[in-house]
Amino acid sequence: MLYSAWPGGFVGPDQVAFVELLQTLLGCAVTRLQTQEGLHGAAVPVSVRQHWAALVRTGALQMHYQPLLNLATGRCGKVEALARLRDGERLLMPDEFLFALASDDLLELFARGLHQALADRRQWLAAGHDLAISINLPPAALNDIRYFEAAREALQTYACPSAQLTLEVLETEAFSLNEGQRSILGKFRALGVLLAQDDLGSGHSGLARLRELPFDWIKIDREIAHLDGDTALDALRVVYQVTRLGHSLGKLVLAEGVDSADLLAALAILGVDGAQGYVIARPMPAAQLPAWIARDEAREVHEAREAPGARAGESVLARLARFVVWEERVLMIAAAPGAARDLLKAAAVVANTPLADALVGLGDVLPAGEAREALQRDLLRALLEGGRESDAWRAARDRLMSAIAATAHETHAPEPVPSHTH
Ligand code: C2E
Ligand code: CA
Ligand code: CA
Repeated sequence: MLYSAWPGGFVGPDQVAFVELLQTLLGCAVTRLQTQEGLHGAAVPVSVRQHWAALVRTGALQMHYQPLLNLATGRCGKVEALARLRDGERLLMPDEFLFALASDDLLELFARGLHQALADRRQWLAAGHDLAISINLPPAALNDIRYFEAAREALQTYACPSAQLTLEVLETEAFSLNEGQRSILGKFRALGVLLAQDDLGSGHSGLARLRELPFDWIKIDREIAHLDGDTALDALRVVYQVTRLGHSLGKLVLAEGVDSADLLAALAILGVDGAQGYVIARPMPAAQLPAWIARDEAREVHEAREAPGARAGESVLARLARFVVWEERVLMIAAAPGAARDLLKAAAVVANTPLADALVGLGDVLPAGEAREALQRDLLRALLEGGRESDAWRAARDRLMSAIAATAHETHAPEPVPSHTH
């Protein structure tokens, strides 16, 4: 719709032609928006945007909480707060409304969401559950000091220790931060809150930022850990190496979007610090969380009791993860001059010490037995003599993969095990 300040504003022939041209162009733009990949579906009418912006300001905001699992302890000590908007019967998800909000709406969303989360945290605390909060900080927050002020004010209001709050920062397109953004990030650090880099690997300049920015946590995007049949081994390798990279930079690493128990077990083997995903829990309203935590603690006690036999039925994915760690360890040691020869010698003698096992043994990748010993010798010799690119190594690895698949037949892990991954 076009409005004119004067009667008959658009009736001249040139004006009509201009307006028609404008209409065509806008039509093209809308079509392009609707078909462009990565952009959210349809264009949203202004009235709907205004309605959503109003919802944010009128108590329709409901934070839901998704548990983050600490893989070292097996416990949930932190939850991510995720925004939902109650619109009559419907509960709007962030994917539907976020992109349509203007910058002041986002600030409002952050401030109100944080207040709600810290209020909920206080309730959980009263019920005996001490949970830290992780909340999403839109990229604009690094250009707008009001976010920092909102965070400081909320922490004070709820007397929440700042280390109990993590802010999740999305990757942005900017390669590096400017002076002002650095200064705001510095203020957050000085406040004592933790910072997490969200969605690592989802695009943009993740690795450069990793080195440059003062994050405490890295959250690996679910696409990175996404598994489909024949890329499973490589997906695990990537997760493993990103985790090592994070650790060597002094950061903790969490994998997002974990949707199978097998993957969860594999991540723990790879040394990932935390996990989040539907297999642990879906986001839920604040009131449901205490019951979930209580169930989780009960389950943990139960599992601890069953632990000894657990490895026998370990999934393909878990075994692949053990293999990834083993392969890396052997190559690291073999890189030292002369070490390869010593390793081979060590493998020849039956040495049942934990160290010897760690150096030359496949550990629990396969059940103990003669077949394992033989395969282990072949693998080690191929890897140490031929190296990672050799045919001998590939052949030995294929045999191992088949053996893994055969031993894990009773589990429901992803089917085909890769024969050639490079
Ligand atoms: P995110 O920060 O990466 O949050 C995780 C999203 O992944 C959540 O979607 C969660 O429900 C979903 N998820 C968790 N586990 C799994 C899984 O196993 N499989 C799959 N397929 N998905 C899983 P949600 O709640 O729809 O949020 C989407 C995004 O919206 C968030 O992605 C975040 O970027 C943004 N967002 C959510 N709440 C807020 C907020 O309060 N403020 C701002 N600025 N952004 C928010
Ligand atoms: Ca997030
Ligand atoms: Ca994320």
